Amino acid sequence: MPYQAGRNLPGEHASKLGHLEVLKSPLVQQIVENFEQPEAVETSANIKWEPFPSLGEPLDLVFAVDGSWQPVTDERPPYKSIAFIKTALMKVDQIALGRIDKDEPHPLALRDLMAEAALYHATAFPLRHVYSKGLSVYDAIRQIIFESLKDASLNGEVMETFKWLAYEKWSSTPRSSLPPFQCPHSEIDGVAHDATLSFDTEEGECATCGKKIFITDMLGFHLEMSENAASESVATAYMNIHETLLLFTGVRYFWESSRETLKRCLFLKDGPLQIRAQYSKLVNPIRNFLSHAYSEGYPISIVGQEKTGIFADHLNLLLGKNTPSNHFFIPNHVYICEQIQSRPSSGAPYGRDTNYGAKVFTVVNERCRLVLNIPISVRMSEFIYRPDSSKLINLDRILATLPGMISSRHENALIPIEMANSIASLSTYPSAQVLKLFAEATIKHR
Ligand SMILES: [Zn+2]
Repeated sequence: MPYQAGRNLPGEHASKLGHLEVLKSPLVQQIVENFEQPEAVETSANIKWEPFPSLGEPLDLVFAVDGSWQPVTDERPPYKSIAFIKTALMKVDQIALGRIDKDEPHPLALRDLMAEAALYHATAFPLRHVYSKGLSVYDAIRQIIFESLKDASLNGEVMETFKWLAYEKWSSTPRSSLPPFQCPHSEIDGVAHDATLSFDTEEGECATCGKKIFITDMLGFHLEMSENAASESVATAYMNIHETLLLFTGVRYFWESSRETLKRCLFLKDGPLQIRAQYSKLVNPIRNFLSHAYSEGYPISIVGQEKTGIFADHLNLLLGKNTPSNHFFIPNHVYICEQIQSRPSSGAPYGRDTNYGAKVFTVVNERCRLVLNIPISVRMSEFIYRPDSSKLINLDRILATLPGMISSRHENALIPIEMANSIASLSTYPSAQVLKLFAEATIKHR
């Protein structure tokens, strides 16, 4: 996802509403005026900024993951539609990065830095009216998701990581089977029943209906599909899950080969550390691993940067309100509900089932204010009720690493995430036009 225009950059100030005849009432005018000046919004809550802890040793091995996706639709009936998805993981050479001019990086220098330092993955889903080998869209997507995680160009490593997390293979007592999930054939046959697979298997038969199930069915993509159409949110959910699994492929690699090296790594993800709705079945396995690693003396540094959405908007509102450099603020449950989500705080704790990191509003300096997501060493709901910065995994080393990665080209931007953006961006690599050309040829030949 690209960085948005910053607040210090020129924006459009012309009124979008002022010309309407109905807006002559003084009260309505006042409301409209206020609406057009979001900076004027006051937050009533007390905000307790904390200074950065005494800085730890910077992390010198930095990895960044990002993805992009693009739907391509045939403009003629029946409006066939395909989604292309791409993800990338790149290793950032901190020494080489230090040599690059941050104000005016030479494009060739950036290219050299990115060359041979990235892993890519690309796949495509039929969303509507595209059929293959007699399969419905429903079964085609289930199979494509399964095969895509086994992507041979990545040596099937991403599927290994999925199994490593889902079966808790890192544990001395791994799971004997997957957590039960709704059988994908329930939707079609109309009889809802649960299914599972036994330790380390990737596919098998449902014990109830005898039909074929894949390990990837555990994530519940089929809950957002009908027999011949799939929601675009299937593509975005797949992208987020693949990004997460690529990142944990790096974690698993060092966990299995050199845990001391793992201590020097920083893993950056574009977006929140969150897996929504039914897909959150992956969240508990991730939390279980991170707390296991922490208790074994291997705190793992993972950071998600949330560049858009209600938390990023909220940080913008806090600008200019005594936000000192090198300070951070962790919103608690009541603050998140009342000030950010505008809902009563009597409901479920924010992110209890879906998040594997806590929100940290971070002000590095005037030009760099970040909504970070950082995993914690305690239960999510406990942390959200009573945030304690000492429970954020490796906060001191993460904050010591950030200053060397701040971009001069964009506000609130980190260079490794910018680089992962440019690698994963479908619009630049390959061009959307090329994708459309391929998609049209594919659609015509079916
Ligand atoms: Zn079944």
